[in-house]
Amino acid sequence: MSQPGTYQNLHLQYIAGEWRPGRSGRTLEDRSPYDQQLLATIPMASREDLDDAYARAAQAQLAWAATGPAERSAVLLRAVAIFDHRRDEIVDWLIRESGSTRIKAGIEWASARAITLEAASFPGRVQGRILPSGIAGKESRVYRKPLGVVGIISPWNFPMHLTQRSLAPALAVGNAAVVKPASDTPVTGGLLLARIFEEAGLPPGVLSVVVGAGSEIGDALVEHPVPALISFTGSTEVGRGIGRIASGGEHLKHVALELGGNGPFVVLADADLEQAAHAAAVGKFLHIGQICMAINRIIVEQPVYERFIELFVDRVSKLPVGDPSLPDTVIGPVISAKQLEGLQKKIAQAKADGARVLLEAPAKGQVLPPHVFADVRPDSELFRNEIFGPLVGISAARDEEHALELANATEYGLSSAVFTGSLERGAWFAQRLRAGMTHVNDIPVNDEANAPFGGEKNSGIGRFNGDWAIEEFTTDHWISVQRVPRAYPF
Ligand code: NAD
Repeated sequence: MSQPGTYQNLHLQYIAGEWRPGRSGRTLEDRSPYDQQLLATIPMASREDLDDAYARAAQAQLAWAATGPAERSAVLLRAVAIFDHRRDEIVDWLIRESGSTRIKAGIEWASARAITLEAASFPGRVQGRILPSGIAGKESRVYRKPLGVVGIISPWNFPMHLTQRSLAPALAVGNAAVVKPASDTPVTGGLLLARIFEEAGLPPGVLSVVVGAGSEIGDALVEHPVPALISFTGSTEVGRGIGRIASGGEHLKHVALELGGNGPFVVLADADLEQAAHAAAVGKFLHIGQICMAINRIIVEQPVYERFIELFVDRVSKLPVGDPSLPDTVIGPVISAKQLEGLQKKIAQAKADGARVLLEAPAKGQVLPPHVFADVRPDSELFRNEIFGPLVGISAARDEEHALELANATEYGLSSAVFTGSLERGAWFAQRLRAGMTHVNDIPVNDEANAPFGGEKNSGIGRFNGDWAIEEFTTDHWISVQRVPRAYPF
């Protein structure tokens, strides 16, 4: 393939198979969080736009599901090729629109590409079953089928990956989809993906991307009679509301909820402290902690507490801060002024709660340098709540059992990590954590396209990736065939 021209007209939405402006009469200004540059002015979608998208999806899904597995795989493989050819364009959008550093944008591009490649294998991996039947002359078959139409709602932090990890598997197994990206990232969270799939040859109408306020079209997207599954990634607060609406009684839809986290990073006394401090700096400050799996709490066994603090603060104090487009920058801008304000309140609260300040510096524009606190008590806000920004607290544990108790003392259960000199000790510690994901001697931020991604407790319901995504985006249909007349009891 020759180098393509960049995608144009990204203020238009992909609704019911055509590129057109939203019809709500209101516009969304899409701005860069680093320098407030205006990237696009997007007329937002109305309820009617959403109805059009769902109606066309319901129609288009039937033909798409009937398309052979090789053809569906081919669309996904072409999308992978487009990811490769348009790498620079995609990375550039991620930097400008989501405030990603160049490092993070590269990681996000790779993750979105990886799940697309993995999903290209799904059409051939969906399996039904033949069950033994106790009834004479009966064949008992279980067909695994697409759900139909899927509604996808995604957040702004890893916008392209978090939309694509629902979208690519959903499409691969024969569903149609309507995507609503976050208002801070309409292009990287949806419109770019629509361009990529259109270019890859996905039939019109199978995918729509509607850009509108969650408050305006969010409920309608969830309540609409067409979607059989709502796949939501975002905060626990909004996710609870969506779960209530989608499957709380009036509607009985499937829901996949990937919600907030409060990831513990535990350092046991026998750990390689240099490596642990290095990992902690990466696991906390990649995308300035705006990752659901990011380290939220560092828990260190007492004998190595002060030494770990020394090594960690030394590393964090040297992280390059500023322009996200520069190759070495690690600390880029917070996504929005509102989010920054929330983080500043958390800093004030941490101080009021008596935490020891190890590192702090004022924000410049929306760039907030790292803040590190020690002696954080388990009853303080910094310990209990998701931070989602470049702040972190360190707490001491008396021993391994106390570290485990502290790590589990949260309503969340997404990702987690433990550092130790003994891998089996780490694996046993991991087994006793109530979490969907735990990494021994690594950062908690890990996502591989073939491994189950998801959380326990208030971090969500369901799993992404690999076989788990095939399961999530399909359903069973039991069909029995009675070959000879059956002997009935009356
Ligand atoms: P958010 O919950 O505010 O928004 C997520 C999405 O929901 C956005 O598209 C938003 O427009 C939409 N929305 C808001 N209100 C809605 C409503 N009433 N009905 C329907 N849609 C609505 O979350 P955010 O601030 O964009 O993202 C940060 C949160 O997401 C953090 O809590 C983070 O932990 C979580 N997250 C979780 C995962 C995971 O895999 N578990 C991944 C990334 C982010």
